[in-house]
Amino acid sequence: MSLTFYNTLTRKKEEFKPIKPPGVGLYTCGPTVYNYAHIGNLRTYVFEDILKRVLTYNGYKVNHVMNITDVGHLTSDADVGEDKMEKGARREGKSAWDIAKFYTQAFLKDLKELNILDSDKYPRATDHIEEQVDIIEKLEKKGFTYKTSDGVYFDTSRLKDYGKLAKLDIEHLKAGARIEVGEKKSDTDFALWKFSPNPPAGGEKRQMEWPSPWGVGFPGWHIECSAMATKYLGQPFDIHCGGVDHIPVHHTNEIAQSEAAFDKPLANFWLHGEFLIISEGKMAKSGENFITLQALKDKGFAPLAYRYLLLQTHYRKQLTFSWEALTASQNALRHLYELFYDQGPADGNSRPNQEYKAKFLTIISEDLDVPGALALAWEILKDPNLKPEDKKATLLDFDQVFGLRLKEISWQPMPEKIQKMINEREEARQKNDFKTSDKLRDEIKNAGYEIEDTKEGARVRPKLI
Ligand code: AMP
Ligand code: ZN
Repeated sequence: MSLTFYNTLTRKKEEFKPIKPPGVGLYTCGPTVYNYAHIGNLRTYVFEDILKRVLTYNGYKVNHVMNITDVGHLTSDADVGEDKMEKGARREGKSAWDIAKFYTQAFLKDLKELNILDSDKYPRATDHIEEQVDIIEKLEKKGFTYKTSDGVYFDTSRLKDYGKLAKLDIEHLKAGARIEVGEKKSDTDFALWKFSPNPPAGGEKRQMEWPSPWGVGFPGWHIECSAMATKYLGQPFDIHCGGVDHIPVHHTNEIAQSEAAFDKPLANFWLHGEFLIISEGKMAKSGENFITLQALKDKGFAPLAYRYLLLQTHYRKQLTFSWEALTASQNALRHLYELFYDQGPADGNSRPNQEYKAKFLTIISEDLDVPGALALAWEILKDPNLKPEDKKATLLDFDQVFGLRLKEISWQPMPEKIQKMINEREEARQKNDFKTSDKLRDEIKNAGYEIEDTKEGARVRPKLI
């Protein structure tokens, strides 16, 4: 099957061919662990999870590396501002190391709840200082760096094609530059190594710092991804991902330093997920617009209802979050589970329908058209010509990509005790004894069942979501 992805590098859909099939090296930029992930961040991780599942469905063996940024990500992309980790530590009165540990655990829990498959590795930036220093030394030897009073910078004017990923118009940028560049030679230059600032009199010293050939300090944010991607996946590797905000700065700079250091491309495919926004504007890490997975759960939503919401929009389209849309997604997912459940017990001989499976493969292999694949799943559920057990087998097969945990919806015969209550309730209803029927309804619900009253009588199933 041919697999195509939209490659940000060429702005085209291209056929995907791995460097060493069936292996695929995948690097996805991970979280900065100074706070909880917000649901915008989680959209990007679900998109990357779908990518990985589609690759696997196509028979590839994915080697996935997701870094944990626990140092060097400053509050501003222009290399000024405070390290987010140190800021988080001050906010909570804990050490930066404890903050990193706590939010890494919280992040991994979010991934599990959203049924995002584990990465093969979660390397931490602070465990790879040496590798980062090595690359900076290489760049220094090749004349790509210069020193200022606050750090070692990459000289972007030394690269002819700097900014090719973002199609940055460098000449235009220079002509219109009004940005404070400080001691930087150009506003696109970026920090490879920052010196620890001298603490103000009586003030606190930086918590995370290391010696280096240039002075005590810490690595810039971009260099960690170059160092860890190359260490674990080689260079070039197959696919690099992140959110669209990474195109103009973070990924542009990763490409610049890795290609300058090793004279070869960093990655062949660059895939970027569009943003989740909320009706009031940008999803921010502070204030009211900061929505976490826990906040969704607190309002009674299942994490997989959020996953279902995300599956309905293509990853290259912006998505506006609203509570109404999430409610509709939870209802749709419940309905999907119910229809799946109603197909009855599994049959050991059932097999995915080959015609539908071929259609599914074509749809998802065209730049991850998951909304199209979901529509196909609904079509299957409503197809009168497909045997119930084959419907189930086909959907279970598709769920390797959707990740909606359909496998956990297993049909079971109604326990005698519950069936008795259902019958008694039906009798009470016939006699218009609503007091008894309501009481029984509550008892059945409390036992973990849902009741749907239809023209043919009550339909009772275990609570599925
Ligand atoms: P951070 O923890 O800030 O480094 O971001 C983690 C990931 O979330 C990165 O891949 C970002 O590109 C992505 N991201 C940040 N904000 C959003 C958003 N509102 N919607 C989707 N992805 C986002
Ligand atoms: Zn990165």
